[in-house]
Amino acid sequence: MSSKFVPENLPTSIQHYIDGKFVDSVDGDTFDVLEPVSNEVYVKAAAGKKADIDLAVAAATRAFKEGPWPKMLPRERSRVLHRIADIVESRDARLAELESFDSGLPITQALGQARRAAENFRFFADLIVAQADDTFKVPGRQINYVNRKPIGVAGLITPWNTPFMLESWKLGPALATGNTVVLKPAEFTPLSASLWAGIFEEAGLPQGVFNLVNGLGEDAGDALVKHPDVPLISFTGESRTGQTIFGNAAPYLKGLSMELGGKSPAIVFADADLDAAIDATIFGVFSLNGERCTAGSRILVHRDIYDEFVERYAAQAKRVKVGYPHEATTEVGSLVHPEHFEKVMGYVELGKTEGRLVAGGGQPEGFEFGNFVAPTVFADVKPDARIFQEEIFGPVVAITPFDDDAEALELANNTRYGLAAYVWTNDLKRAHNFAQSVEAGMVWLNSNNVRDLRTPFGGVKASGLGHEGGYRSIDFYTDQQAVHITL
Ligand code: NAD
Repeated sequence: MSSKFVPENLPTSIQHYIDGKFVDSVDGDTFDVLEPVSNEVYVKAAAGKKADIDLAVAAATRAFKEGPWPKMLPRERSRVLHRIADIVESRDARLAELESFDSGLPITQALGQARRAAENFRFFADLIVAQADDTFKVPGRQINYVNRKPIGVAGLITPWNTPFMLESWKLGPALATGNTVVLKPAEFTPLSASLWAGIFEEAGLPQGVFNLVNGLGEDAGDALVKHPDVPLISFTGESRTGQTIFGNAAPYLKGLSMELGGKSPAIVFADADLDAAIDATIFGVFSLNGERCTAGSRILVHRDIYDEFVERYAAQAKRVKVGYPHEATTEVGSLVHPEHFEKVMGYVELGKTEGRLVAGGGQPEGFEFGNFVAPTVFADVKPDARIFQEEIFGPVVAITPFDDDAEALELANNTRYGLAAYVWTNDLKRAHNFAQSVEAGMVWLNSNNVRDLRTPFGGVKASGLGHEGGYRSIDFYTDQQAVHITL
């Protein structure tokens, strides 16, 4: 392999994991997995289809019906989840190395994501033992209480951006609440997902509770969505895929949680702390290679500070260090896959006709290969431009001026998406009023993307359906049966 860095002991194949065993596809089919620096095939992964999903769902159904997992005390499940967190934490460097190699994420950022995966398990391990449910008494007449129950086999379908961490965000609550699962990870990045099986075995998760089927979305993903014995689908991915899944799940009336795409605005008012706003909006769209659902990929700037902002922002974007994913100084690595690279480069070329290019605009010097893209900034982008409206999911940002608060709000809300918004102002009233009017599931005021795991996570409009995070995840993965007793 011509890549500059190859981790030691890479697997020689990536298999499914069904009922406690690593297995190939029933039909023996595989697909190629590329690493994004050389774009060479480094491993083949089992290409799951309906027959493999059927086996995985059968194993998960058996594990759910026969137990012990769904019937264990929350404290017992919690212990297993804490052990999972301990193991993930103790292997953070190896996980980061593999994730960075497979996805092109800068190694330091992949390390942060591995630790967050451990934290997700720890969080839901704690939450489930603290879970309290409602009881109501009507004196002399009735007692009513909530009997919370796991639902069954949860189908988890995940994307290729920060794959291991996003899988943990679903696996943690699904398992904490006593469900059994079938995970279908993204086909671009199956490497880190294949490590869950060993981690879970070591932590003592009973056989059949966790099942993994690799494969393409339209094969394995589709079969999972259409399986009649899978009552829940938690999906993270593109809005268009979400629509397809929504339609395919409709005949079964499945529970759906959808975390979809975004085109989130960062609004910088004239009274903002400009240094902080520039640092944060640079991080907001260029960290994780711009492959971040909550990326602040549209920056709206008050006209009074517009020219200064654009000049300083472009200068800083040019200083963002593009490099090999495995190098500790790298801030933007390689995009995940040549197909995605082509898509992002298509938007870069389109941007040259829709805005004023002030930084980047192609492959960075010295990195004219693989899937590297220079941090790219377009100014003077009109709201009807495609680069203003469509999710690019790469290190590309559009900057647009506004004249007053009303126009800022109109521009902020002028896309089909509504995932996140970032507001920069020192006027407290304006900040809160704007936050309440902006169409976004999550708003950060003078701050960046950090959040408490108890808060709701999710989007409005085309960015999602339902919320995860804290008790909302527990609610999604459980039934709340009401029991009424006459006194
Ligand atoms: P994608 O929609 O192409 O794929 C996501 C997953 O769905 C993959 O596992 C894929 O195999 C599967 N899939 C594809 N077609 C399917 C079908 N017909 N039936 C069932 N499964 C199918 O998304 P992606 O390109 O992997 O991920 C990037 C997208 O994810 C971006 O739009 C990003 O904004 C979004 N995202 C959202 C959040 C969030 O929390 N809102 C987080 C991360 C990523």
